[in-house]
Amino acid sequence: MRTVRAALGLGSNLAGPRRKIAWALRELNRLPGTRLLSSTTPRWTAPLGRVKQPDFLNCVAWVRTSLSPMGLLTELKRLEVLAGRKPGARWGPRPLDLDILYYGDERISTAWLTIPHRVALARPFVREDLPKW
Ligand code: AMP
Repeated sequence: MRTVRAALGLGSNLAGPRRKIAWALRELNRLPGTRLLSSTTPRWTAPLGRVKQPDFLNCVAWVRTSLSPMGLLTELKRLEVLAGRKPGARWGPRPLDLDILYYGDERISTAWLTIPHRVALARPFVREDLPKW
């Protein structure tokens, strides 16, 4: 079976960020056909945009997965909802945010998915921590 290495960005600024990030890492390792390979030490990051909200706890994780890009996105959205995320302002606070930064060396540009995720890749916690592996 074909498997691909994907880099994911994790963030939380509500409802116990430390526990939320630890929970998300455990759940990533339990997704169908997916193994957590490694993750960076979570660090606090100032939020983007103009909404006044708490800092985010962020980290980056590498997984190996046999899920398709859309299959992986669907699973990440499911985890966000399980973590208590409600539909709301794009830039607002959230108990869990999961982004696909890289999916192998694939380039994807659809209404639902942009990979590599340029906006997330530009964020300092990703730019500084991702190359350290
Ligand atoms: P967000 O508000 O950051 O959770 O993102 C909202 C939407 O961005 C998601 O529902 C996805 O359809 C879309 N999206 C586009 N590219 C990506 C990506 N690489 N990773 C995660 N979500 C993405």
